[in-house]
Amino acid sequence: MWLAELKFRVLANTSYTQAEQHIRQYLEALIFQGQIIGREFPTYLADTHFCSRVILSAQDALQPKHHSQRGQKALQALGNAGLGYPKLQLLGQDLMSSETDPCTEPPGYILFTNFAEQVSPLRCSADFAPVPLFRLGSLNGEDFEALIRWQLQYQALDEIQMQQQRVLPKSAEQALQQLHSALNRQGRQLAKKLARQTGKACHYYLYSGSSKNCQAEASKKCPSCGADWRLTNSWHQLFQFRCDSCQLVSNIAWDCQ
Ligand SMILES: [Zn+2]
Ligand SMILES: [Zn+2]
Repeated sequence: MWLAELKFRVLANTSYTQAEQHIRQYLEALIFQGQIIGREFPTYLADTHFCSRVILSAQDALQPKHHSQRGQKALQALGNAGLGYPKLQLLGQDLMSSETDPCTEPPGYILFTNFAEQVSPLRCSADFAPVPLFRLGSLNGEDFEALIRWQLQYQALDEIQMQQQRVLPKSAEQALQQLHSALNRQGRQLAKKLARQTGKACHYYLYSGSSKNCQAEASKKCPSCGADWRLTNSWHQLFQFRCDSCQLVSNIAWDCQ
């Protein structure tokens, strides 16, 4: 990931509110297309420019060809707020996040996220590196808003269940670890859609935090089809279970490891 600054030159009379609203709409479009990552975008006025700090999912993320239809519209609309097209200044590689997937053609994908890392929820199945969503292109002009909104909820629940003094004892963990929770139903549908869209496998990661029976944990079956899904060696040092027909991966419950 790359840290960058977007500079919007003030070309005509504008108000803070108007400029802020249009910059926000543009940045939101970039988020939903997977071009920039995260939720916080410090923005300030410096002389003749508004400047926003962003994290790019790849060095070339903001090339116009990667914009969604929504992004193109938001870019055009900047003029209505008296702002010019943004100029990009790369500041350097972001040391706090994983490196972007180096593969030009990932063999497959894993849908995986957690609260700790602000990166794309889509990982390359070969090296587990985050894949910028814009690389998938768009289908019927759609962007990845549903996927990003799913990720936000997943991360929020994960953050809650990682706290020592949980305000929602157990319910956050259940949402993450039960196959049929609303969160996982939604996530699996999104994974299936990505598999259809790319013509490649897209495994869904099913979180496993605690277990009622740690002794039986290592030999548990695929919760979807009941097949034996234990791997001889962990996949990406994280997953001890994988079912290719259900496109699910999971781990030995953290409490049992
Ligand atoms: Zn890769
Ligand atoms: Zn299965």
